[in-house]
Amino acid sequence: MIKDNICILNEEISAAAKAGRFGQDVTLVAVSKTHPAEMIMEAYDEGIRDFGENKVQELLSKYDELPSDIRWHLIGHLQRNKVKYIVDKVWLIHSVDSLKLAETIEEQAAIHGVDVNILIQVNISHEESKFGIDKDELISLLRAVSIMKHVHVQGLMTIAPFTEDPEECRWIFRELKNLSIDIDALKIDNIRMKILSMGMSGDYRVAIEEGSTMVRVGTAIFGQRDYTII
Ligand SMILES: *Cc1c(COP(=O)(O)O)cnc(C)c1O
Repeated sequence: MIKDNICILNEEISAAAKAGRFGQDVTLVAVSKTHPAEMIMEAYDEGIRDFGENKVQELLSKYDELPSDIRWHLIGHLQRNKVKYIVDKVWLIHSVDSLKLAETIEEQAAIHGVDVNILIQVNISHEESKFGIDKDELISLLRAVSIMKHVHVQGLMTIAPFTEDPEECRWIFRELKNLSIDIDALKIDNIRMKILSMGMSGDYRVAIEEGSTMVRVGTAIFGQRDYTII
């Protein structure tokens, strides 16, 4: 089942990239939160190497248990006191939404002697999530992060609200893409807009048409999550 789902997703992702205006490459991040190692290994055996978790503890236990060539993505809200546990284990942190959090990551990255790639989470819709920085505060955050030695901004992330019709979220993805173009034009040191992390199981096609380069897909790969077992 996981195998078939990934096969279908890969096709849908290429089709959506072709249908859009940007012709970009899209990375599929398999969101494995709540799912056991065996299911992750099924996806791994299909060639998936990018996995997303939203809780530090869960990421850590899977990190220890699973192959070392997995690229772990932290996609959920990150508390500052937990940064020290993951700073040398994550490939990309998608959910940085404050200067304080970026400063803590910088501090811990220096201690561990590592470079950390991050995305800034932007709250475009103000509906689904209380997390994410307001777009009006984005540029000043980026300027502050740009002088950091170990933290490197690679792009932006957003979470669209759940809707029956993903077309309702198209404007959100378009707005994030436009923001990234505007920021790119500013040519701020140490700030790249290479990655746009947007699109989940319900809306990844629309997100890709609007320029997403990284989709975070859980349910469409692994099926429904059962939160009662963890
Ligand atoms: C859980 C989660 C996803 C995956 O959602 P699905 O609808 O299962 O694809 C994507 N992004 C974030 C931030 C999540 O927490």
